[in-house]
Amino acid sequence: MDCQVLIIGGGPAGSTAGKILAENGISTIIVDKAKFPRDKVCAGGLMFHTFIDFPYIRPFIENYNFAARIYSPSLKYRLNLFSETNKEPLMAMTSGRTDFDYNLIKLAKKAGCELWEKNKAQKIEISTNKATTYLQNGERIKSQIIIGADSVHSIVNKNSNLQNKWAKDDMGLAIEENIQLGKKTMDNIYTKNRCVHLFLHFNDLPGYAWIFPKKESISIGIGTLIKHGNRMREQYSRFLNVLKRNGLIPEEFQTQGFRAALIPLSIPFNNCYSNRTLLIGDAAGFVSAITGEGIYYAMSSAKAAAETCIQVLKENEFNAKKMSKFKKIWKKNISKELKLQYFAKNWVLLNKKRCEKGVRWGSKDKKLEKMLATFLMGRFNMKGIEFRVGFHYIRCKIKDKFGIL
Ligand SMILES: Cc1cc2nc3c(=O)[nH]c(=O)nc-3n(C[C@H](O)[C@H](O)[C@H](O)COP(=O)(O)OP(=O)(O)OC[C@H]3O[C@@H](n4cnc5c(N)ncnc54)[C@H](O)[C@@H]3O)c2cc1C
Repeated sequence: MDCQVLIIGGGPAGSTAGKILAENGISTIIVDKAKFPRDKVCAGGLMFHTFIDFPYIRPFIENYNFAARIYSPSLKYRLNLFSETNKEPLMAMTSGRTDFDYNLIKLAKKAGCELWEKNKAQKIEISTNKATTYLQNGERIKSQIIIGADSVHSIVNKNSNLQNKWAKDDMGLAIEENIQLGKKTMDNIYTKNRCVHLFLHFNDLPGYAWIFPKKESISIGIGTLIKHGNRMREQYSRFLNVLKRNGLIPEEFQTQGFRAALIPLSIPFNNCYSNRTLLIGDAAGFVSAITGEGIYYAMSSAKAAAETCIQVLKENEFNAKKMSKFKKIWKKNISKELKLQYFAKNWVLLNKKRCEKGVRWGSKDKKLEKMLATFLMGRFNMKGIEFRVGFHYIRCKIKDKFGIL
């Protein structure tokens, strides 16, 4: 065997799994088709739970965001969200995915994980006694286990035992541009709180548009379903015009052009494991369907995969039944919140009327506003969440009906 675990893809999912496995004395190789530092189209926003569950990423954070403003589709209503204590941030920003991912991969290497860069995996083969990965350069790697962390076009998912397909309405497309504005302009427009701005259903496009302020730059972008992708270019220039008119970007701002990438907006595939194989991160749909937040869920699914590998390697059994431990772990940790976010995407985010109503209600009801702030931070307590959401919904609906909201 060349290694015990081979990880295909060295993004946040792959590097997190590599770090944990190597720290536990497991011989691990990450292969990635790119050479690090490599770029990735992403806004680089991190919700609060990311630096709580993975505190070692704190040094890679560029700045924290202490406020957020959410606009209704008509732009008539706004939610002004602050963290409960005003000391805890709502969100944080990485300086960019090039640096962030490079730092994570360096941690995996430091722990003892090997990195084979500029090596594209082309095919995998699973037999009873080993897993074989064929690289584009003709080499092959034999391992006990393969982890697929190779994003939406995963070659590991093409393995005959998995073969999951994305539903059309569960695949998103997002565009993004990072713009340097300088500290003084940033302080003037976004204040020292570095207020995040989110526009729901901007100009009738299902999904949302964003401004994520960093230290001296902003990430501007729009996310929607892939089926609306042909409207993105026009929407982006309209979005920039609205931002200029409202003083949210400088009048003289000139776009340098956006970049686009796919983003799964589903719940994770049930079929995320088979003999000697696990699928993590975007490759398996570990993304918040409502916000598109994928870094935290890539890292969480990687942690569950690493725990599974440690256990099955001890037992020296790699059949699908043993590998199913992976699903048990992530189901326990993150399944409920991912399902809730999927429901919220379909029921609220893709429905213009409900987006308008939700923001209108929240702008007039402090309790609802507070609940939405904790939701945005990724800090919501999942215990009894259905009842709390249902309770607020019915409470606000009744108040609205009687005109007292
Ligand atoms: C515009 C946009 C904005 C976003 N903004 C945010 C945000 O603000 N916050 C957030 O949390 N999430 C955001 N996301 C989602 C986030 O980027 C992803 O969910 C996250 O990168 C998933 O991590 P990953 O490790 O699974 O995959 P990736 O980061 O995509 O890494 C996959 C790796 O696999 C490698 N690879 C692929 N195929 C092969 C192969 N055959 N052989 C070898 N290597 C291979 C690639 O080179 C890559 O390095 C955004 C996405 C988009 C498109």
